[in-house]
Amino acid sequence: MKKFSQLRPWLAHLASTNRLVATKKNIFLKHELAAIAKKLDGKSGVFFPDPGGHSIPVVSGFMSSRSWIAEAMGVEEGALLHSFRLAADNPLPCKLVDDAPCQEVVHRDFDIRTLLPVPTHSEHDSGPYITAGLVIARNPKTGIQNVSINRIQVNSKDRMAVLILPRHLHAFQQAAEELNQSLPVAVVIGVDPLTLLASQAIAPIDSDELEIAGALHGEPLEVISCLTNDVRVPANSEIVIEGHIPPNVRELEGPFGEYPKYYSSQEKRQVIVVDAVTHRKNPIFHTIVPAELEHLLLGSIPREATILSYLRRSFPGVLDVHLSLGGVGRYHLYVQIKKTHEGLPKNVIAGAFSSHYDVKHVVVVDEDVDVHVPSQVEWAIATRFQAKRGLVVIHDAQGSVLDPSTTVGLPIDVDGVIPSHYQGMSSKLGFDATKPLVYEGHVFTKVKIPGEDEVDLEAVLDNQFPISSYLKSN
Ligand code: MN
Repeated sequence: MKKFSQLRPWLAHLASTNRLVATKKNIFLKHELAAIAKKLDGKSGVFFPDPGGHSIPVVSGFMSSRSWIAEAMGVEEGALLHSFRLAADNPLPCKLVDDAPCQEVVHRDFDIRTLLPVPTHSEHDSGPYITAGLVIARNPKTGIQNVSINRIQVNSKDRMAVLILPRHLHAFQQAAEELNQSLPVAVVIGVDPLTLLASQAIAPIDSDELEIAGALHGEPLEVISCLTNDVRVPANSEIVIEGHIPPNVRELEGPFGEYPKYYSSQEKRQVIVVDAVTHRKNPIFHTIVPAELEHLLLGSIPREATILSYLRRSFPGVLDVHLSLGGVGRYHLYVQIKKTHEGLPKNVIAGAFSSHYDVKHVVVVDEDVDVHVPSQVEWAIATRFQAKRGLVVIHDAQGSVLDPSTTVGLPIDVDGVIPSHYQGMSSKLGFDATKPLVYEGHVFTKVKIPGEDEVDLEAVLDNQFPISSYLKSN
């Protein structure tokens, strides 16, 4: 199967198969654009020419279905996690080039508020946000790059506030700040589907997500050095914002409607000072509508793949995992295992909690339960789970700071905010919803009708049989 290693051919492919529609010109960047994209969420991506009279078009929702994502990768949906996992485990070093489409146009004197068509998405958002910007930075200690998508609030002509959750970019920024140094960064907007996916891998620190992108492409990703710093960015991207995060500078950021479908509060956050903006001659700006499918799936699928890989290192009996959409693609992990020991599910639960701090509720099920079908998982909880022996509870562990239920009852400092070292403190629950290995008779045998999987409806149905006249005449 063909894979899509470039953005524009993927958009063209979606358009030619009725999965990318265009709007009329002059759709408002404030709320209207996001409302239209949300209305078509999961059914069609949307291309907005001249949004708000801006000459740069906006696109949204081009990765908003699990099957589309598999298609972009050139694999069947069932092979999605396996293929992503292979790439994450076998990264390909990038290829440095010295001439790139993303630097066709260079702005050194600019106002990002007018240069780029940045939408305002949700009702209570503080203002325009860049939501599909890949933030790339180098580890000040090792020089190895990291990629993450962070929400970015546009504050003024050359300043943006950014939420940096406690993972790799955070560690780099802290390391630079301890040396009283700025952290050079690039914010890349408009990348190909596979690079977008790779950016969300849950890889170890000092594992460059752009090398995972190369592995997904099947050839090294071409990168170019920024003009004002040493950060390397995908050469074929649409728009690059070059800048730096100065030490010990914070500005207010938020509120902002996030993936859990709630607003996170206004707090002082790190600032990106913009040094230059480069882009293609006629660039396209990508925006992800928060909490909609593109947002949830881009987060969940690479996570599923990397969590599966992580769990299988300790537990070869783990067969499949799923981060459900109802669990906002982050908090609810369903794990399918081949159970070989009565104690195994609890070990798997403990392992799952350590795979990512966002994982809050874990359900372990048997091979006969499809973790991608939430009603089957619920059935396993309903019929195989007993709290007395199957429940694992851990209180006061680190969870997601964006989960509003973690904000209740925590200490508040003099500024009226929860200190960062308490934020996201959460209880974790594990459910062993597996059946016992040994049981009497058919107590735990799933009801099955002989032949149900083999029924050929074309062979057995009679479309001509006159049901109505039969009922009248008999
Ligand atoms: Mn990373």
